[in-house]
Amino acid sequence: MNQQDYINREDQFGAHNYHPLPVVLDRGEGIFVWDTDGNKYYDFLSAYSAVNQGHCHPKIIEALTTQAAKLTLTSRAFYNNVLGEFEEYMSKYFGYDKVLPMNTGAEADETAIKLCRKWAYEKKGVTENMAKIIVCDGNFHGRTITIISMSTDPDSYKGFGPYTPGFEVVPYNDIDALAQALDDPHVAGFLVEPIQGEAGVFVPEDDYLKKAYDLCKQHDVLFIADEVQTGIARTGKMLACDHVGIRPDILILGKAVSGGVYPVSAVMADDDIMLCIKPGEHGSTYGGNPLGCKVAMAALDVIKDENLEENAERLGQLFRDELNKIDSSMIELVRGKGLLNAVVIKPKDGKTAWDVCMAMKENGLIAKPTHGHIIRFAPPLVINEKQLLEAVEIIKNTLAQFE
Ligand code: PLP
Repeated sequence: MNQQDYINREDQFGAHNYHPLPVVLDRGEGIFVWDTDGNKYYDFLSAYSAVNQGHCHPKIIEALTTQAAKLTLTSRAFYNNVLGEFEEYMSKYFGYDKVLPMNTGAEADETAIKLCRKWAYEKKGVTENMAKIIVCDGNFHGRTITIISMSTDPDSYKGFGPYTPGFEVVPYNDIDALAQALDDPHVAGFLVEPIQGEAGVFVPEDDYLKKAYDLCKQHDVLFIADEVQTGIARTGKMLACDHVGIRPDILILGKAVSGGVYPVSAVMADDDIMLCIKPGEHGSTYGGNPLGCKVAMAALDVIKDENLEENAERLGQLFRDELNKIDSSMIELVRGKGLLNAVVIKPKDGKTAWDVCMAMKENGLIAKPTHGHIIRFAPPLVINEKQLLEAVEIIKNTLAQFE
């Protein structure tokens, strides 16, 4: 089969809920992937920041295969000998009393919302069914009905109503708007991405998160950070919240928790919040399975063993510096933190961000446009300086083709 055959088969038998770049991958190692014709590419998406540790990291694959041969799933109807080890590991790694394991990012967000509402009724004393969660314009927290109910992106919500009530949207990066919304005594939580990834890598003002956190404290409102995309060293620190020294009341993690090898997500909180959920009130058949737990521990070990926080911080700075030197009329703006970056593209002679991504693919680097005019650049964090500069050359030469 050639690449077009693979694409046609997906087109015929799969739902059309994505619009992929036309490249068919069949192998990955570190920061590189290969297509079915043997062409090699720099992966500058990292599966939306799930593959921070690089493709098929040998330590993570070793954990996967070893555990896969022993015990994969017990459900939570019984105990197993790995879940507790994982829970202790996560609790110490992130500094919270407890973890609630799930599988996908969206499930972890749903979990955080349930936890926040339950806390509001049991601890804060909000009238039953009246709890409100404040969210931000431009948010992305996943694809479930409840999550799209708080979305402001018509592609996400239009045609899928009726929607779940209980959310109020405020502009992102607008502390006054948040302060005003927090005046309502029914507000239970403020759910925020420390950097808005899917919206196009929007980095808020330096003091926004800290001020937002302080306001939440003043109003007895839970500060809930969705670090599904920004967490696990992506922005140059373990958590994006670490840049401003705040510790969310509820921390939502996913994606790179398991290095792109197996779906594992997690919600972290201290006892006074986490213990609001009682047996039988929440769960998932696969959540906390021994295979995922072993994979996640190996993946999180890799982050520390290979100093990926420092690497992301240093090379992210270099990447933005180098991109800012490129003389191209299509680059409107470069922004980001660590190795989560984006370039806002100014269309030229009818050529858009999609055309730039297609041309970069031809030149050996794959990345994906978002919202039509933004290209996100997020390589695996195991990239080294030489490779990064080579990738910058590809981006530069590609943009030159459009001048
Ligand atoms: N939250 C954020 C901030 C995300 O970026 C994403 C996915 O891109 C999600 C949640 C949803 O994660 P998943 O696709 O694993 O459900």
